[in-house]
Amino acid sequence: MVLLLIPAALLAVLVGVNLGWRWVFAPLLGYALLTWLLTSLRALVADGRDGAAAAADPEPVSGDERTLFWCEECGTEVLLLVRGSARAPSHCGQRMHERTELLN
Ligand SMILES: [Zn+2]
Repeated sequence: MVLLLIPAALLAVLVGVNLGWRWVFAPLLGYALLTWLLTSLRALVADGRDGAAAAADPEPVSGDERTLFWCEECGTEVLLLVRGSARAPSHCGQRMHERTELLN
């Protein structure tokens, strides 16, 4: 893979110097956006599939404990009031971490 990057970089420099750098960066940006889009759509489809399979009757959380979900990426915290499924919700493209605290 690394050996393929050397001729690709040489070709990119050659094209960039002779034809303009927009012919190098525009396809790279397009590839990055397409990859991000497809990854996001795959995550949404997987979430929809798993969520439909795991759907159950929602049950309120018991009063002697407090469950929080937190996002490792951005730090967002979500307080769980009604549990719809056993799976943790997603945020920033990944599963949130569950933290349960016992209340006195
Ligand atoms: Zn997040």
